[in-house]
Amino acid sequence: MFRVGLGHDTHRTIEGRPLILGGVTIPSDSGLDGHSDADVLLHAITDAILGAAGLGDIGEWFPDTSAEFAGADSGELLSRVMAEVAGQGWAVVNLDCTIFAERPKLSQHKQAIELKIAALLKVDPAAINVKAKTGERVGPVGRGEAMEAQAVVLLSKET
Ligand code: MG
Repeated sequence: MFRVGLGHDTHRTIEGRPLILGGVTIPSDSGLDGHSDADVLLHAITDAILGAAGLGDIGEWFPDTSAEFAGADSGELLSRVMAEVAGQGWAVVNLDCTIFAERPKLSQHKQAIELKIAALLKVDPAAINVKAKTGERVGPVGRGEAMEAQAVVLLSKET
């Protein structure tokens, strides 16, 4: 049996916080605002996996009103979700994702991000693809006010 899942997330850019994308800290003069570590990519990936497994969304699992998740490591949250999903018999076939950020340039960080995601999901790095785009200087992303991420994942289960 196969199931596909879709994830999307948006975070505002802010000065004074580190920029963490896919669990990797990226050199940047601004980071992302949020209740947790604001890793927009891992949030999209977590939602894609939850969606494919039919397990709701990240806000149900880790409410941003809960002090427990203030400053949370999004990689830790994703690992918890993946442990539950794997425990239900699901395996990741592949994951594709896109980061939307006007700056900094992410091309030289994509491979490190792929390796980190593969480690978090406990899959072969060949199953993970990370893409990066700018906002072409229009909209919230293009003006540098926000970053977004999209992810799609395919899960399989023996039946
Ligand atoms: Mg988020």
